[in-house]
Amino acid sequence: MARKRVFSGIRPTGPIHLGNYLGAIKSWIELQDRYECIYAIVDYHGMTTPYQPAEMRANVRELLIDYLAAGVDPERSILMVQSAVPEHTELAWILGTVTPVSWLERVPTFKEKAEQHPDYVHLGLLSYGVLMAADIVLYKAEVVPVGEDQLPHLELTREIVRRFHHLFGVKIFPEPQALVQEDTARIMSLTDPEKKMSKTLGPRSLIALADPPEEIRDKIMKAVTDTGPTGEGMSPGVANLFHLLKIFGTDEEYRSLRAEYDAGTLRYVNLKRTLADAIIRSLEPFRRRRAQLENDPAYLERVLRDGIRRARALARETMAEVKEACGL
Ligand code: ADP
Repeated sequence: MARKRVFSGIRPTGPIHLGNYLGAIKSWIELQDRYECIYAIVDYHGMTTPYQPAEMRANVRELLIDYLAAGVDPERSILMVQSAVPEHTELAWILGTVTPVSWLERVPTFKEKAEQHPDYVHLGLLSYGVLMAADIVLYKAEVVPVGEDQLPHLELTREIVRRFHHLFGVKIFPEPQALVQEDTARIMSLTDPEKKMSKTLGPRSLIALADPPEEIRDKIMKAVTDTGPTGEGMSPGVANLFHLLKIFGTDEEYRSLRAEYDAGTLRYVNLKRTLADAIIRSLEPFRRRRAQLENDPAYLERVLRDGIRRARALARETMAEVKEACGL
């Protein structure tokens, strides 16, 4: 029997950070054995917030290197660029004709981004969720490994699928389910720990997987710990540092620093030093693979060409069914 499909993607808007890795890519790698996986560089989504056209291609290349260095295996998974498979936008148009605008206005990321960039609220931003639905169902994906912030988009995708089936009297797409890594679903910003770590908050707020060790150390040492008057319980900044230590540090490191915190004797500088060392140590193999890949442009090109060809073959099959159902 054919393996179930997985789809996920990241916008080429800058280097991937610990949030992207822990929230999404880590499970992408684990899923490769059991599923047919399609991992995309979603450049059309990257156009929905202000960006520099001159930087787009370089960002696509960097993201491809990040995927490969993190462990995405092009022999087992399809690695592709969204804009190279025109069926994504073709299907998005069709799904747009069955999606009420009111559903899109309710999406939390639309509201957030509209507030962040009030001069940049356009149709593309509003219909982001429709394009994302198309990305997923174009491959009939059943599992979508993403961070917690994407759950409303997955809910929207299922609503669009149901409505499409209802209106056209067919059943073409599975209803995709999000796969959220419970303990790593939401990594917080280093500078603003009430918000999720995100490229949109700027480079100081995040640890990029490709950051040089001294930069990682500097960012962790400057991470916000306590803000304002100390209230009840652990502050969000300290909680985030402990969360990261639990993931990257040894059990012993976590236990002893946590005991110091509970006893009220913890010096944050020690927590930060230990955490910085642990992250730098864990990212060492990634940095090594990244450096090798940077020197092999022919290999990178081959990976993408092959991935795009395989993705297109799957996309064409679905579009034939969709067009038939729509009377096109
Ligand atoms: P960004 O917010 O940095 O632009 P994207 O929107 O491109 O990141 O998200 C790519 C993937 O990474 C999505 O699956 C998203 O859920 C996940 N992700 C992004 N930020 C975080 C975070 N801080 N914690 C956990 N997962 C995250």
